[in-house]
Amino acid sequence: MIEIGTAISSLAALKTIFEGAVAVRDDTKLMEVKLAFQQQLFEVQNAMLAMQGAYAKLLEEKREIEDANRRSQQFETEMQGHALFEPAPGVFVYALQPSDGSRPKLPYFCHPCYKARKQSILSYEAAISASQPAALHCPEQAAHRVELPRRWRREHLINGLPSGEHTE
Ligand SMILES: [Zn+2]
Repeated sequence: MIEIGTAISSLAALKTIFEGAVAVRDDTKLMEVKLAFQQQLFEVQNAMLAMQGAYAKLLEEKREIEDANRRSQQFETEMQGHALFEPAPGVFVYALQPSDGSRPKLPYFCHPCYKARKQSILSYEAAISASQPAALHCPEQAAHRVELPRRWRREHLINGLPSGEHTE
């Protein structure tokens, strides 16, 4: 692939040769110049097509970066005031931290998703059996599911553990 600048210089040089050939009425030379001219023109067209492709790709990349920036800014705005919170021992979520220092309320946001700048609201899954305790479920990734301590129920999650009560 030739550079457009090089191709245009070559075309200019061919024009000079062409004018020379016309001046002396040299048909063979004219035919040679015509073929060379067509070849150069073809290369210029190819170079322009390649440039057009590269330009479209750059535009696409620019739009992707702008989208990512906008999403990031939106995340910052919407998650302002949220902080890491431990609603149950060993269970970490992001939640809006009340300015009065009281216990954060629902919704709780998935911790791994938050780190990836995604807002995933965790949902509460009641315990099914002793071996399958209550859990917080992430709608984005099953692997982000986090089990709650045994006998931990929804009201504990919201209000914290009543004083004197132990889960284990
Ligand atoms: Zn998640």
